[in-house]
Amino acid sequence: MMNKEQYIESLRKLKPIIYCNGERIESVVDHPMTRPHVNSAAMTYELACQPEYEDLMTVTSSLTGKKINRFTHIHQSTEDLVKKVKMLRMIGQKTGTCFQRCVGFDALNSTFIVTHKVDKECGTNYHQRFVEYMKYVQENDLMIAGSMTDVKGERSKKPGQQADPDLYVHIVERRDDGIVIRGAKAHQTGMVNSHEMLILPTTNLGPDDKDYAVACAVPVDAPGVIHIFGRQTNDQRRLQGDIDTGNAEYAIVGGETLTVLNDVFVPWERVFMCGEYQYAQEYVETFAAYHRQNYGGCKVGVADVIIGATAAMAEYNGVPNASHIKDKIIEMIHLAETMYNCSIACSAEGQKTLAGNYYVNTLLANTVKLNCTRFMYEISRLAHDVAGGFIATLPYEADYKSPVTGPYIEKYFAANPKVPTEHRIRMARLLENMTGGTALAESMHGAGSPQAMRVMLYRETNLEHKKSLAKKLAKIEE
Ligand SMILES: Cc1cc2nc3c(=O)[nH]c(=O)nc-3n(C[C@H](O)[C@H](O)[C@H](O)COP(=O)(O)OP(=O)(O)OC[C@H]3O[C@@H](n4cnc5c(N)ncnc54)[C@H](O)[C@@H]3O)c2cc1C
Repeated sequence: MMNKEQYIESLRKLKPIIYCNGERIESVVDHPMTRPHVNSAAMTYELACQPEYEDLMTVTSSLTGKKINRFTHIHQSTEDLVKKVKMLRMIGQKTGTCFQRCVGFDALNSTFIVTHKVDKECGTNYHQRFVEYMKYVQENDLMIAGSMTDVKGERSKKPGQQADPDLYVHIVERRDDGIVIRGAKAHQTGMVNSHEMLILPTTNLGPDDKDYAVACAVPVDAPGVIHIFGRQTNDQRRLQGDIDTGNAEYAIVGGETLTVLNDVFVPWERVFMCGEYQYAQEYVETFAAYHRQNYGGCKVGVADVIIGATAAMAEYNGVPNASHIKDKIIEMIHLAETMYNCSIACSAEGQKTLAGNYYVNTLLANTVKLNCTRFMYEISRLAHDVAGGFIATLPYEADYKSPVTGPYIEKYFAANPKVPTEHRIRMARLLENMTGGTALAESMHGAGSPQAMRVMLYRETNLEHKKSLAKKLAKIEE
């Protein structure tokens, strides 16, 4: 396993092409726009080396028998699924933001399941190939970006019907030594500070979309790969000090990119699906269910910090005992623990797959994420209510530090006399960072838009069974 420093050093050895704000970023580790995201992901390495977190963060590999970081594990039990959720919550409490590594974790486990099924039914040999890749990932403790979401063009049209064929990643050439792919993946969490990306299809496919049925692993610095770093709410504040960023060490969400794949060559040993369009839907749904499981872990860890910041703000404002404030904090706790309950439930109700790993309960996993699309907004709304309007109107850090204006800010932003003004300002900025803009959009669209969960809830629910329960009690015989 790598520790934090080794992970950071391993990134220095890669040479990905990254553009941000009109410039090329030469070192993700040293650049102020990307360093906070490196710090967040590095937490997954740092904690794995601390005895206190050994049980959650590490596990024995089912493939090699060696001790590995849990983020590279193929789940072997429902206990593993539960520990995943607990691990995500614990790390979220420490970073207050996305630490990015779960997307690849979920892509690995879903690929394990789907390659096994495709091989069994089509006589291919993707699974063994993938197992060899998994061993490589585990041995080197790699961070894998989970690359599912295509840019998708006109949403109502299938990949093959688009005006531009490149709006979904597809195979443009099949060679003796591998394939060549073209297209772009959007919203790629943690991509610039990952080692490799695991590409999978983004939607169900038909016979006309064969070339879009592609899964493969690609190094982030492979020839033809270009990353365009996404802009986040208030991200330029990183260049201007630490108070105004709110969470200077760890930033907001996962430092997403638009990753362009310009005729990228992939050798056969890294290709895990090549034309088997019939399995694309199952692949997407399996990945999505694993990924939706996470939101009652990591987002609850983040919510724990928001609740703590809100309770602290109530004290700083001098109203910790007001009954409506307590009531609002109770509501926030209730919403957070409801999300956590659902994540634990979908893990505990998980089952062994034919491939041998464990998979979450799909219906319950979709419930987790659908709750999250609402509850994180409600938690943030309540945090804004309790904190007060100054989280939206605070002056600049530079004015606070200025000898001309600083004393006024110090004097007039004071509230509870026992609390330094700077503490009140820092906590307000943390809440502003964690409850607005980019941070909330992740709760809405990360792991799929709400409608995707609603479709799954309807599909996974046995309505006929429910109707028969009702008819029996109503004494209706048909
Ligand atoms: C912060 C963040 C991090 C992310 N990280 C990753 C990542 O690491 N890897 C990854 O692969 N993806 C990632 N995603 C992508 C995420 O899965 C997508 O944002 C999500 O699936 C929605 O896709 P979209 O953003 O293209 O929205 P759209 O598909 O444009 O959806 C917008 C609206 O249109 C509706 N809609 C879309 N298509 C149709 C249709 N055919 N018919 C009817 N309604 C439709 C949707 O329901 C939604 O209401 C991330 C997203 C965010 C916001």
